[in-house]
Amino acid sequence: MLLMGTMGIEVALKPDGSVWVREEEIGSTVPKPWRIASAQERLGFLKDASAKWPELRSQIPARPPRAASCERCNGSGYIVQEIICPRCRSLGWLVESAA
Ligand SMILES: [Zn+2]
Repeated sequence: MLLMGTMGIEVALKPDGSVWVREEEIGSTVPKPWRIASAQERLGFLKDASAKWPELRSQIPARPPRAASCERCNGSGYIVQEIICPRCRSLGWLVESAA
């Protein structure tokens, strides 16, 4: 299922729970191949999509106490309104900091 398709990026969720990303370069007519999302991208994109599909919330773990807030968006997950933070991908905290 397609979670997101906006300017330059498409995100898809496979039935096995994996999340795939395809980014397009500005000005390029050749799409890049699909790649598997990083842990940060996976949780961030799932969180963003869960606003639309609440059943996705079960796939998102609670924020670990040690996790650092994203400094790019001050933990909000968004730069302005619906523009997803490019660092934490809407999650508001950093997966790698809690690993
Ligand atoms: Zn952020």
